[in-house]
Amino acid sequence: MAPSSSSLSRRVSPAQKHIHHFVRRRAEQPESRLHFPATRKYRSMEEIMKIAKYAVVDREDYSHVFCEQCHSDDHDDELLLCDKCDKGFHMLCLRPIVVRVPIGPWYCPTCSDHHHRHRPLKSFSQTKIIDFFRIQKCNESWGKCMSPQDARKRRRRCGTLVVHKKRRRLLSFTSTEDPARRLVQMGSLASALIALNMEFSDDLTYLPGMAPRSANQAKFENGGMQILSKENTETVEHCRAMYKRGECPPLVVVFDSCEGYTVEADGSIKDMTFVTEYTGDVDYIKNREHDDCDSMMTLLLAADPSNNLVICPDKRGNIARFISGINNHTSEGRKKQNLKCVRYSVNGECRVFLVATRDIAKGERLYYDYNGYEHEYPTHHFV
Ligand SMILES: [Zn+2]
Ligand SMILES: [Zn+2]
Repeated sequence: MAPSSSSLSRRVSPAQKHIHHFVRRRAEQPESRLHFPATRKYRSMEEIMKIAKYAVVDREDYSHVFCEQCHSDDHDDELLLCDKCDKGFHMLCLRPIVVRVPIGPWYCPTCSDHHHRHRPLKSFSQTKIIDFFRIQKCNESWGKCMSPQDARKRRRRCGTLVVHKKRRRLLSFTSTEDPARRLVQMGSLASALIALNMEFSDDLTYLPGMAPRSANQAKFENGGMQILSKENTETVEHCRAMYKRGECPPLVVVFDSCEGYTVEADGSIKDMTFVTEYTGDVDYIKNREHDDCDSMMTLLLAADPSNNLVICPDKRGNIARFISGINNHTSEGRKKQNLKCVRYSVNGECRVFLVATRDIAKGERLYYDYNGYEHEYPTHHFV
């Protein structure tokens, strides 16, 4: 049976998972101003004393620190200090904006090579795109390739026999017809992935030393997970097969000075369209507690938390990694949402899909709520 919209929203997940937050070198700052959730960061007094016995009291004074961008020392709880040059920067004065306090060392734009990585998006030749995305070549030329199944589906869509009860079915995305435009779309994704040193992967990946594939079982989900219907599974498989032929969803990655990489619709997308799966390396959350990757996605919330899984698109992934989150603290932010993040059991394994929640016009940016499930991700700085 196709899922109703309510079953979609009920299980909506996930939340990019952020476990630890702290204010860099500013222990005196009130946590509450950042609205960060209580975390497991706190050590017991016994633990602290064990370390404190040997610690030299740090009397460094950071009261002179101001922001290099706006030259103000207001909101000092949001000032990040560079771990190399010790200069200060407000999280909101940086470009792109830093939405949460980094977990590991942080280097300012001058001291890091980060700003070199955000080059304008390059264009790629067709051959390079075919290699990068490992597109399966077919007999006909790029863009002219359509399987009989596609032809049948397109005809069916043109027919007048619309079955009403099937309205909530997932729809396949419709690729842009113009092959040259598709090359631009895929080129934008390729250059964003290359800038982050990532490989393209349209699948969940399991690597030695991380969670094995056998750990990803929907039956471990606490309370159970909704099962993707047979016909929706076919739709998802159809979309994956299209992607393998270079028929990508009509999306383009753009670089925004505030938001960083973000994704825009490059054609219209209908409500309930399967836009993309969220892919990357699967790992246990417990292995990633000190990880600074800012786009981990919940995959499995098990009854036993040590079995919880996340998707980490830090080395491999697809366009899902670049889609922005809404600021779910404001109604303006919530209005922007046009995608929903849904977890399903597909043949017994958990998968995460991004699905359109309304018709999306060409040129609109894509947004979903990173906190669909756990409310752990600090979104109040999102534009
Ligand atoms: Zn500032
Ligand atoms: Zn610096």
